[in-house]
Amino acid sequence: MIELTAVQKIRLAITGHPNREPEFQHEGPTITRWITGGPQPTAYVMFQKQGDQIIAHCPQCGEELGQFNANYGENTCQELGKIRTNGIKHQQQHENE
Ligand SMILES: [Zn+2]
Repeated sequence: MIELTAVQKIRLAITGHPNREPEFQHEGPTITRWITGGPQPTAYVMFQKQGDQIIAHCPQCGEELGQFNANYGENTCQELGKIRTNGIKHQQQHENE
């Protein structure tokens, strides 16, 4: 088992592959990002930097889906995984409205 670097783990969490770039649709604080890759469905989030945290929001209703440290520290991949899981669940609620 090859030890992944922190950045590779983050890429793995977002994209399902350690060397693939995250497939964010656009850059910018008010733009919807697509978190894609791997077996899970795509999550749609908006990222907003607040102090030293990056907060993920639902693009439709603005509900917070999670946050991670803007220095992309060692918990980032875990937090992004949670954000993606929350985002997928949250989107399903919107689809059932
Ligand atoms: Zn929402």
